[in-house]
Amino acid sequence: MPNPPDDADARRAIAPVICYPVETLPQPDMALYASARAGMTKVDAVTVPPRDAATFTVPAGHIFRISSVEGPQVGDLNLWNARDLSERFYSGKTRALHGTHITTGDRMWSSFPAMRPMATVIHDTLDWYGIDSFGGSVHDVIGTRCDPYTHNLLAGGQYHHCCHSNLTRALADHMGVAPQEAEPHAHDVLNVFMCTGFTRDTGQYFMKASPVRPGDHIDFFAEIDLLGALSACPGGDCSSEHSSDTAACYPLLVEVFQPQADALEGWRAPKTNGYDRTHGR
Ligand SMILES: [Zn+2]
Repeated sequence: MPNPPDDADARRAIAPVICYPVETLPQPDMALYASARAGMTKVDAVTVPPRDAATFTVPAGHIFRISSVEGPQVGDLNLWNARDLSERFYSGKTRALHGTHITTGDRMWSSFPAMRPMATVIHDTLDWYGIDSFGGSVHDVIGTRCDPYTHNLLAGGQYHHCCHSNLTRALADHMGVAPQEAEPHAHDVLNVFMCTGFTRDTGQYFMKASPVRPGDHIDFFAEIDLLGALSACPGGDCSSEHSSDTAACYPLLVEVFQPQADALEGWRAPKTNGYDRTHGR
């Protein structure tokens, strides 16, 4: 290892600055969302079986809720523009804008070139959790999704109920195509209810038992017409391992709600991003 320079401590002592200050982001109108939520009525519900996934659709201006129902369970969420699957959730940019974990008031941003809010978190029964003494927090946009490729590299074997495969099968069924055709649409997820962070000493991605309990839920406002897929992770509450059939696993409930007719007065679906895409040519 090279010797540290004489001014190593001084270089380390430079204070950080926030990469993307969010003060200039268009702010969500939380009062409007609260009034939309107050008078909403349920129009659809889908139960996601353990170690499997299901798809659901949410019209723009509706609200969807993901709930823990029978026991602590983590969910891996994919979102697409229901009219154009090439516009999909962009976990990396969402992380850059809102941090490693999202909660009430944060948004799920879509991929380039649309790059707009797809969904806004409007209620989260776990937002009391904050950041624990290990640096852990809930609903992460750090992890990618458990997948059979990484599992094969690290442990060998063929495991078919990782979230990646669950999401792929669910989308394949929705599209009426083979899993291999649907697979490229699966993308990095929002890890709903998952409690994660990075170790301070080695910077490694860690998980710990989710604090979610039956009755806990997170509510999202659909900013555009959405197709969603949710996997009930084979890791269950992700307290020990994933990519296996040993963890206790429970279903997750997705419900879709319609706001009262006049509750969204003045609301408009966000436009696609304003960059002209000429890239200097
Ligand atoms: Zn998983």
